Amino acid sequence: MLSQMRRSLLRLSVLIFMVAFTSAFARGLVALDEAKIAQAVQEAYAKFKDDDSGKNADYIKALAKVDPKLFGVTVVTRDGKVFEAGDTKAEVSIQSISKVFTAALVMQQHGAKFLQRKIGANATGLPFNSIIAIELHHGSASNPFVNAGAIQATSWVTAKDSKARWAKIKANMDAFAGRKLPFNEEVYVSEVNDNKRNQAIAKLLDAYGRMGSDPLEATTVYTKQCSVNVSAHDLGVMGACLANHGVNPLTGKRVLEKAYVPKLLAVMATAGLYDNAGDWLYASGAPAKSGVGGGLLTVIPGKLAIGVVSPPLDKYGNSVRAQKATIYIIEKLGLNPFAQ
Ligand code: GLU
Repeated sequence: MLSQMRRSLLRLSVLIFMVAFTSAFARGLVALDEAKIAQAVQEAYAKFKDDDSGKNADYIKALAKVDPKLFGVTVVTRDGKVFEAGDTKAEVSIQSISKVFTAALVMQQHGAKFLQRKIGANATGLPFNSIIAIELHHGSASNPFVNAGAIQATSWVTAKDSKARWAKIKANMDAFAGRKLPFNEEVYVSEVNDNKRNQAIAKLLDAYGRMGSDPLEATTVYTKQCSVNVSAHDLGVMGACLANHGVNPLTGKRVLEKAYVPKLLAVMATAGLYDNAGDWLYASGAPAKSGVGGGLLTVIPGKLAIGVVSPPLDKYGNSVRAQKATIYIIEKLGLNPFAQ
């Protein structure tokens, strides 16, 4: 009788422990093994360091000149621990990854419904700078990560004029990175003198009554936001703010309302890697955003972020080594969010 009671007590305590452990794990409270993270980062770097497949973007002339050998891999955990390998302080222009932070700012200023109603949250199924997509969707840009939606998002940042709008967008990116990010004048000049297609997109959206401010001014501010420099380390920290429900784990500063984080991650999952977003999600299960400068920012919600820089791109415009290194780390550490 006594031993039966003891056995049931034991069973009960095992059950209680399991429930507590599972829910703690679900909340990301059980620390990932730090030695394993450090090892996975080193291995990912070593494994792909000499992979020279892909090609720098050259439609923006300054990007073709960036050293294709640059390769940095950084993991930043939700509680601010940093693991890195390679050229993690080497900077490239942020390009499309900036779209994440301006979309965040628009949500912060106007709410998640506004972003969905005015800009959209669907994949276009067409290239990032498609004009046909706007026509097909009756003036809707579809999402804030194609150029149309990104320029539109820039236009909707509330500010008294375009100078103040740029200042807000830059300050917002700096808050995510936890430092004043440098501005890449060479990339900006190269792109601003050659952005007629983006101007056309902005004008077309304006004709549909979708812009929040002057379309050409918004295009210029958008081009500036794309010309901000970031390193793999910066991308890791910026992503970790999203893994940490909107608080920068290194500065302790809230950079985005908690409620908007899952919305932003949803758009990253849908449209983060251009026309290859579906294949990326299929392989990694993780919301991410790439840029033609060679950066890739990936978020493992509630756990950590992976920032990688490597300029050579695949045919979709996504960094080849950054994708490989990120998928390696995700698989090695069992981080695929759909497999939890
Ligand atoms: N500034 C680039 C453009 O508008 C961004 C492209 C990108 O990274 O996707 O073409």
